[in-house]
Amino acid sequence: MIDDVLPPPLVDLLSGALGAEPADATPVGGGMINRAARVRVRDSDVFVKWNERAPPHFFAVEADGLNRLRDVGALRVPDVLTFEDNAEEGLAFLALEFIESIPPQNPERIARRFGEGLAALHQNVSPDGAFGLDTDNYIGTLPQRNSARTDWAEFYRDCRLLPQIAIAHGRGFLDEERERGLLRIVERLPVLLADLPPRPALLHGDLWNGNFVPSGDEPVVMDPAAYYGEREMEIAFIELFGGFPPGLVPAYQAAFPLDPGYARRRPLHQLYPLLVHLNHFGEGYGPDVDAICRRYSA
Ligand code: ADP
Repeated sequence: MIDDVLPPPLVDLLSGALGAEPADATPVGGGMINRAARVRVRDSDVFVKWNERAPPHFFAVEADGLNRLRDVGALRVPDVLTFEDNAEEGLAFLALEFIESIPPQNPERIARRFGEGLAALHQNVSPDGAFGLDTDNYIGTLPQRNSARTDWAEFYRDCRLLPQIAIAHGRGFLDEERERGLLRIVERLPVLLADLPPRPALLHGDLWNGNFVPSGDEPVVMDPAAYYGEREMEIAFIELFGGFPPGLVPAYQAAFPLDPGYARRRPLHQLYPLLVHLNHFGEGYGPDVDAICRRYSA
């Protein structure tokens, strides 16, 4: 029964927005935040995710991120069909083209396409030369500030690390030593990042392996937290949690080599996703944060 899978108001909203009644729905698992289903509408499948407590503009900014990535054309993303934030008392939803997960035939080929696609994405530099985006968005459910800064160290401090440190403080995830270590890193950012040329590249922004589906040998990425940032953020994030086709990063490096010193800066750029995970999922991520603090404490 469709009503066992989708909340009844969502069935009505989808019928209105897609111009046809959903005929069938199957739950899709694997998400960290929203509920999701594969919904049969007319003769095709639609991926629908919804949230009954979504923060403001939650799916509008996700749709905006997907559209930006799709417009660049470097990596395939699902088409945005429709979305509504605050459609009904707290209910928000996003409907996307359904991407069938098809195991790759040729693992080297998908790794190469992924690495080269990501390199092509990162060749897109922000039109005004600033890091950030013209809209704030979310990383998971946490707000992600995108105010313009022309200096990466400043952007990373003001829009990435300090807001997450404040959230961690508020949620009780910082003891004195951790807080001191984090603030020491923040203070040293201009020195630690001094070698990087300023190049605000369009990033997916949340590339853990749950946001990637193979469609045969074509990689498809979803659920972005897009912004113009330092591209090392994306590669450091990929290398942090892994689970991508082996060969992705070498293919990226061959297409668009990272700047010298990347390996030295990698943990610094992994600090943001680790703080985001600490704030979402708790102390399990604390020791990794502490190890990074120790590494840059000198
Ligand atoms: P979250 O709750 O973290 O936002 P999603 O709702 O985006 O997660 O995704 C939940 C699961 O559905 C993930 O495993 C993801 O791979 C899959 N998925 C996301 N978008 C699509 C899509 N357009 N087509 C098919 N599967 C998708």
